[in-house]
Amino acid sequence: MSQTASALGRCPDCGASIPAGRLLIAYERADGTAVYADCPGCRDVVHPA
Ligand SMILES: [Zn+2]
Repeated sequence: MSQTASALGRCPDCGASIPAGRLLIAYERADGTAVYADCPGCRDVVHPA
């Protein structure tokens, strides 16, 4: 387990771990749930991976 339940994932731009509290939008897609979050590292809206 490399990812805790409280984290959304990592920023694809700077690699920072993004906590669940940074979640902005979550929506269903054909291939799963996509989320957008405010990255605490680069202060941009990113798609955590
Ligand atoms: Zn970032």
